[in-house]
Amino acid sequence: MSIRSFDKLFIDGAWVEPHSDSVIEVVSPIDNTVIATVPEADTEDLNRAVAAARKAFDEGPWPRMSPQERAGYLKRIGDEVVKRIPEMSEAFTVEIGAPAAVSAAFHDNARKMWGDSSTLYERFEFEEDRTWADGGHGKLVREPVGVAAVIIPWNGPVATGSLKMGPALAAGCTVVFKPAPEGPVSTMLLAEAIEAAGLPDGVVNLVTGGREFGQQLVDHPDVDKVSFTGSTAAGRKIMASVADRIGRVSLELGGKSAAVITEDAPLEDVLSTLIFAGVANSGQVCAALTRVLVPRSRQDEVVSAMQEAYAGLTVGDPREETTVLGPLSSKRQQERVLDYIKIGVDEGARLVTGGGVPEGLDGGCYVEPTIFADVTPDMRIAKEEIFGPVVSVIPYDSIDEAVDIANGTEYGLSGAVYAKDDATAEAIARRIRTGQIGINTWDMCVTQPFGGYKQSGLGREGNVEGLGAFLETKLLMR
Ligand code: NAD
Repeated sequence: MSIRSFDKLFIDGAWVEPHSDSVIEVVSPIDNTVIATVPEADTEDLNRAVAAARKAFDEGPWPRMSPQERAGYLKRIGDEVVKRIPEMSEAFTVEIGAPAAVSAAFHDNARKMWGDSSTLYERFEFEEDRTWADGGHGKLVREPVGVAAVIIPWNGPVATGSLKMGPALAAGCTVVFKPAPEGPVSTMLLAEAIEAAGLPDGVVNLVTGGREFGQQLVDHPDVDKVSFTGSTAAGRKIMASVADRIGRVSLELGGKSAAVITEDAPLEDVLSTLIFAGVANSGQVCAALTRVLVPRSRQDEVVSAMQEAYAGLTVGDPREETTVLGPLSSKRQQERVLDYIKIGVDEGARLVTGGGVPEGLDGGCYVEPTIFADVTPDMRIAKEEIFGPVVSVIPYDSIDEAVDIANGTEYGLSGAVYAKDDATAEAIARRIRTGQIGINTWDMCVTQPFGGYKQSGLGREGNVEGLGAFLETKLLMR
């Protein structure tokens, strides 16, 4: 098992020899073997990448082109990404453990995101005439914010990178892109797609490294904007770091989203989305529905239906067509999830199914899909993001209580409400403080505003709202 290794960094329009001689070993969670290496950039490499982005912004053509002209390049990136989806998917599957269907869905999202970014100019006024009360008039112009640091996690790197870089580039920003060290290879392929689209030198630069390296990028004085996706803990630290220079920041962070099932929701309609939304990509999806809120009278019915559905999920090698759940992304992630399962048991939640490493799969980072029932809202497994295939079923006694429980964590990223009629579901959904919420459905819609309330983040990605995150507003007065 191997995927392509890389020994260069993409800086100033070319693949260049890194200054650093360290490498990152990419370990496959399928069997814990090293499958590729990429350079581990150092401070000198970082400075070089930021300087290239700075120069491309201050002196280059990119921010000065018309939005329509930039859109032509974005369309080309989308086309180049599509050509590379098979290789990106393969890399993603072996470096992170995502089964083929999950990988296909993530990469298809990347295609949609570049498509969306390349048409933003058609529905967004970069300039508009304004008049105001005392007879003044002028023009409002929206200008790119500058050099953007784009920092992403490993759980969907090409899609997450595209969701940030598409709008950043559409706005006219230049980019320094830092993927996570756990899954860098598919993002190297994304950089190749960007290179093939022929953008001016320095507009996109890719450097690789871990947390401390990411922190150096955040702290770099020539970075005007940080667009970060990752854990709430890191987001909090990044926000504090940029505060000194009143740096611009957008944060897409963790989640603990709730599915509220009402008394009259027909279970057969709910189950297929509920199962997928809870444990897809082995639960390593920020918007996953990891809390299932059920009327106390329906808990047994819901739990036994979920238990039956989970028993039918094939866990195994993500390269096999029949596999529904692959391994967790790394040993660290597997240990974290198993620790949380122990916490749930110790807290007194009822372990209904799963809870361990599946038989015969102890060579990789696998965890069985796990359901806890009789979970109470104060338990840690009900409040903290586990980022694994672990779902907590929480009984409630009234809709008011269900809404309180749904709103009772520090997060607010996604959610779903299931009821017999949409109007009832919508009335409940409107009371839940979260960035996206499904009404008798669930999805992660990334071509519409995506992001979180509370500690799930700051700002929105996708569509014109995502574009706005990379723009400053200037009033020209006459
Ligand atoms: P993480 O926060 O540890 O790391 C994410 C990225 O940030 C990595 O590239 C890492 O190297 C870098 N990083 C970490 N600390 C940094 C710092 N102080 N300064 C600069 N860079 C830093 O997260 P993780 O555990 O790798 O990823 C999982 C988390 O990401 C989960 O909490 C998940 O919910 C979240 N996530 C959120 C979304 C969303 O859109 N809201 C999407 C995907 C994942």
